[in-house]
Formats: sequence, C-alpha cells, structure tokens
Amino acid sequence: MIIGIDLGTTNSLVAVWEGEHARILPNALGNLLTPSVVGLDDQGQLVAGDIARERLNTHPHLTTSLFKRYMGSARETLLGGRAYRAEELSAMLLRSLKADAERALGLAVHAAVISVPAYFSDAQRKATRIAGELAGLKIEKLINEPTAAALAYGLQQRSEATFLVFDLGGGTFDVSILELFEGIMEVRASAGDNFLGGEDFDDRLVEHFIAKVGSADLPDTAQPAMAQRLRREAQRVRHALGQAQDARFTLREQGREWSLELTQSELAEIVRPLLDRLRAPIERALRDARIKVADLDEILLVGGTTRMPLVRKLVAALFGRIPGMLLNPDEVVAQGAAIQAALHARHASLEEVVLTDVCPYTLGIETSVQLGADYQNGHYLPIIERNTVVPVSRSRTVSTLRDNQKVVTLGIYQGESRLVKNNIFLGELEIPVPPRKAGEVTLDVRFTYDNNGLLEAQVHLPINGDTRRLVIENNPGVLAPNEIAQRLAALEALKVHPRDQQINTLLLARMERLYQESLGDGRQYIAGLANHFQQMLDTQDERQIREVRVDITQRLTRFEQEV
Ligand code: ADP
Ligand code: MG
Repeated sequence: MIIGIDLGTTNSLVAVWEGEHARILPNALGNLLTPSVVGLDDQGQLVAGDIARERLNTHPHLTTSLFKRYMGSARETLLGGRAYRAEELSAMLLRSLKADAERALGLAVHAAVISVPAYFSDAQRKATRIAGELAGLKIEKLINEPTAAALAYGLQQRSEATFLVFDLGGGTFDVSILELFEGIMEVRASAGDNFLGGEDFDDRLVEHFIAKVGSADLPDTAQPAMAQRLRREAQRVRHALGQAQDARFTLREQGREWSLELTQSELAEIVRPLLDRLRAPIERALRDARIKVADLDEILLVGGTTRMPLVRKLVAALFGRIPGMLLNPDEVVAQGAAIQAALHARHASLEEVVLTDVCPYTLGIETSVQLGADYQNGHYLPIIERNTVVPVSRSRTVSTLRDNQKVVTLGIYQGESRLVKNNIFLGELEIPVPPRKAGEVTLDVRFTYDNNGLLEAQVHLPINGDTRRLVIENNPGVLAPNEIAQRLAALEALKVHPRDQQINTLLLARMERLYQESLGDGRQYIAGLANHFQQMLDTQDERQIREVRVDITQRLTRFEQEV
C-alpha cells in the first residue's frame, strides 16, 4: 500500500486510492486535516497535529510550526534544547501521519508519494525525500502540488490541456500554469507570494478589531496568548462570513467584553490590500508561460482559503469565468498524491517535467527605511526574487544615508521576510566611499545567481569606479548520508505519542491553553475541570473517562464562547 501525502505548510493530509476514488484518511482524532505542527511533550514523546498546535503558546520551546518554509536550508530550530533541521521536523510530522494512516487502515505502511510545491528546488526536493526516509517511509515519488490537483480533477484523461492552479493556503499563495501534452504534464511557470495566505487575512481582521474597539482599555494584545486568542477569533469570524452576511468578533476578559459586528462587505474592505496582492503573481505566471487568459482550459482552486467567497469572486473577475469548486480545495492535493501512488503501483505514473532551474529564495540586502525624520535599519531590499529562472543577474541602486559617510556595509540575505532578522544571513560586502552629503554617493549592487547555486554579489561605485565582489556558495547543503544515519537514529529513539491516548491528551492540552489564557475565576474553573479529568484518567476506567471527556468538552466550548 502506497499512501499519498500532502505535506502542507499549515495542514497535512493522507489519502489512499480505493479503486474508484481517493479517500482522505482521518487521523486518530477523527479529523481529515492534521495541523503541520510538531513538538515534544513533557515526557519527551513526539506530539504532532492538533495537540502540538494547542501547545504552541503554552510550550513554545517544545513546539514548532511553519518548518516547510525552511526545507532545503540549513536553518535549525531548537526543541527542548536540541537543534532540528526542517527535514527532521517534517519527519516528525510524517511519522505521526504514518501512525495515523496505519491506525485508519489497520495495516503497516512503508511507502508514500509526497507532494511538493512546483517551485521547490532540487535541494528542497532532496530534503523532502530525506524527511520521508527519516520517518521510515520509502518515497516512491514526489509530485508537484498543482499536478496533484490536476490528477484529482482527472485532467490527465484529456489529450491536451492548459490550465492554471490557484493555490491559496494558510500562509502561502502559489500560482502554477500547467500544460498537458501527449501524456506529459509540464509546469510552464510558477509564481506566488510566500507570505500571503489565510493567516494574513486573520491578522488584518485582528488589527481592524483593535483599531475599532479602541486599544486604550484593551488587555495587552501583543502578549502571545492574547494575540493567539484574537487570531483564533478572527479565523472563526472569517470562516463564518463565508456563509453568513454578518458575524460578531468578540473578546471577553475578566467580566469585560469588547465586541464588533462585521459584515461581508466590511471584510472585503479590510482584506482588500491582500486581495490586490493576488493579481501580480497571476500576471507574472501568465507572462512567463506566454499564455493568455483566453488560452486557459481550466482554472483549479486549491487551498483552504479559496473557500472564501471573496477570493472566488476575485478569481471569477480576473479570469472572466466562474471557477469550478467540485472538490474540496484543501483535499485535492492529497487526493492527487494518492492517485499518483496508485499509478505508480501499476507502473504507470504520469510523467512530469519539473521546473527546478529557478532560484528558490529571494536574495537581497539590508536597507534602511525612513520613518518620520529617522531612518530605521534592518529592512529587506529584494534583488533577485524567488522563483526567478536561473542563471540570472539583477541590480539595484542604493545611496549613502549620512553626511560624510566613509564606508558602506551591505548585509546579504536570503528569505522572504520584510525584516532581515527573520531571513538567513549569507555574508557582507564592505566598500569605502568618498565623503559627500547624504544620498550623493550612489552604489550599484548586482547579484548574479547561476545554475550551481552560486551567488555573486558585486557593488560598484560610479563616482570613482571602485568595485567589490563576494562569492557566496548559496547551497546550504543537503544532509550527507552519514548525517542522515545519525539523525535517523536520534529520531527513532523518540517515542511517538500513543494513538489511543491522542484524544485525552488533546483535551488536557486544550485545558492547559485555556488556563494560561484566562485569569481569576475562569482559571479556577478550568483548573477544576483539568484536575477532575486527570483523576478520571488515573482510574483507567474507559467508560467513565469517555463520559467525563464529552461533558468537559462541551463545557470548554461554552467557556470559550461565553466567559
Ligand atoms: P496549506 O496548504 O498552507 O497547508 P490549507 O490549504 O489547509 O493550507 O489552508 C489553510 C487555510 O485555509 C487557513 O488559513 C484556513 O483559515 C483557511 N480555510 C479553511 N477553511 C476555510 C473556510 N471555510 N473559509 C475561509 N478560510 C478557510
Ligand atoms: Mg497546500
């Protein structure tokens, strides 16, 4: 049995082909979507999914999310004092998904097809394969996410087709243009925004709420637990506005209440700047593929955020037609991976032409931004944007900031964040400049990136012809076989949290979060419930535990709505 896995930035899913259709396998909690969050519990056991998500704020040093963004880089994350690479964090999630799949299927699983974004570079694909290996899975094949979506829609049955896959997930936006010709699927172009997804919509909604209710007497909204609560509420409201005309955003704290009624059209206004950002990558992908909107046979909607009527409306307006929504947009990639797995088992996989000759990350320099009368350092100026076809050479012109400045130091970074502190530092170029008034000395900064992942940064001073260069081997490295073996041993030593305890552990984690989020009487109430539940667990009487669990779950849901 080969399973299909959508290893997403926000959510992951497992599917299997059952002869007629692909079925999404529920996890041990009965859910089809497993949040892509992993961590260690207090006993050092591996936890993933909803339990880990509940623990993100209560146990920040033991839990982590969004690691897909760092696949193929050497960046490490500390968990309980040990540093893990993104391959290892992905492997933890895969182990949990594998255990859930085995439980759902009632048999052992050893092999999988995993989907990856079309723009994933060779290093990122290797890292995904290694993650599978570290999780004890033989990776039969990697499939591009948009190709998987196409398979789920049965497009491979046509002889020829050109289509666009619009994938708006939790934190990323990817547009791909695919062409099917003589049984071969080719990704003609891919573009997107690594920092645009449903969660950004939620952040906007939170900002709007704070601005409207007046932040003066609100509790400290920057505090992580409070920020998390507001984001949850924003997500609830955003989902509700997909159906209802209006919904109420409410925050209750210590007997006080802040509340704001929101309508669908207000939501549209609030997220307009984000919706506007969806346009450019689409245009770029079409341009790169030299395809006109009229040439597209299909537009496929993928990713949970395309459930928003606002997003669908925008897509309809951009393409002049109403996109189909036959399949659940957050399930199609996993379904397609399962179809690919079935094809593979019959030695008949769909051939794919993969697009790997792109620079996978944005490369840029640190710059200063004027805020009022002052300049603030630490901002990012992209020079080569992610997904640019290599080899490529791009330049930007910058200038001195201070009067009589003697030297300019250029920090070189890789990443997608607005602030360089969140990006990966690659190196530094220093060049002396003749003392002049601020802004009078200009510098041409040129980045050249080749097929081997070598970045050459060059700075040139037109004023005196001086030039400095720095070559950075921007290949953070794929793990060497001996390193893989070491990390495999370390991961194997980690126990996976028992599947049959998941539901109880999730309830405990939820109460821990609510306890930390609440104050005063609310806290006491939660503590009482938690102690009671712990006592029940100690009796090991399954029937009683179940009864109490159902009762407490209802109370907590009421508590979260009413307190
Ligand atoms: P990813 O591919 O990034 O792992 P998904 O495709 O699962 O993620 O998308 C997750 C996002 O989808 C979340 O931001 C979530 O709020 C959003 N989403 C899911 N269902 C809905 C809905 N009914 N309405 C609006 N947004 C939704
Ligand atoms: Mg996805």
